[in-house]
Amino acid sequence: YDVDYFCVPHHYEDSLDSILIPSGLIQDRIEQLARDIAVELGKEPFAVLCVLKGGYKFLADLLEKIKQYYRFSSENSVPFSVYFIRLQNYEDNHSTGKVKVMRVDGLSFLQNKNVLVVEDIVDTGKTMQVLLEILEKKQPKSIKVASLLVKRTSSSSGFQPDYVGFEIPDRFIVGYALDYNEYFRDLNHVCVISEHGKQKYSNHSN
Ligand code: 5GP
Ligand code: MG
Ligand code: MG
Repeated sequence: YDVDYFCVPHHYEDSLDSILIPSGLIQDRIEQLARDIAVELGKEPFAVLCVLKGGYKFLADLLEKIKQYYRFSSENSVPFSVYFIRLQNYEDNHSTGKVKVMRVDGLSFLQNKNVLVVEDIVDTGKTMQVLLEILEKKQPKSIKVASLLVKRTSSSSGFQPDYVGFEIPDRFIVGYALDYNEYFRDLNHVCVISEHGKQKYSNHSN
């Protein structure tokens, strides 16, 4: 990797409280998840449904690492198809409890397919609950959920994804495609935003 890969971009240096999960650790964990998913799910072709926008980096890295797994293992590889849906629950930096569903792809592809949902983070679990209700109506053969992060929070619905990268404390985090007002997606580490960062990148100041 380029050395920039390990650094915090200069424009965010004064906006973070801490680096919670550095990018190297994220990449290592995704490699393990890719192997688990390929072993358990990759016997038949499957459809991947990425939840935008926060899931895009996890999707890209996970699919690369699934391909690498097949390249270096003796197993036959299977093709996967890729779809997108956009869901919005968070406003500013809190869960609203109302999930907005914006279609990117139609959902008729789901029928009779093994589906892997790829999500950035599960907080209250409300977003996943709404999504799974929508998906189940389309009668897929199976549905599994992979979430890079799960927050330990007292307001959790109890929903647990099938594949989890990391459990994290109940803090508002940014980076690795998770945003604050659309900023911080261009940060490779999962970080805790600071009060100064919230002010600097608030809706009012730009
Ligand atoms: P839930 O419906 O489980 O409460 O929230 C899930 C969605 O809210 C996630 O997919 C993510 O888009 C957003 N979200 C939850 N926690 C955080 C966080 O700490 N930081 C950011 N940037 N987004 C979050
Ligand atoms: Mg999300
Ligand atoms: Mg967001």
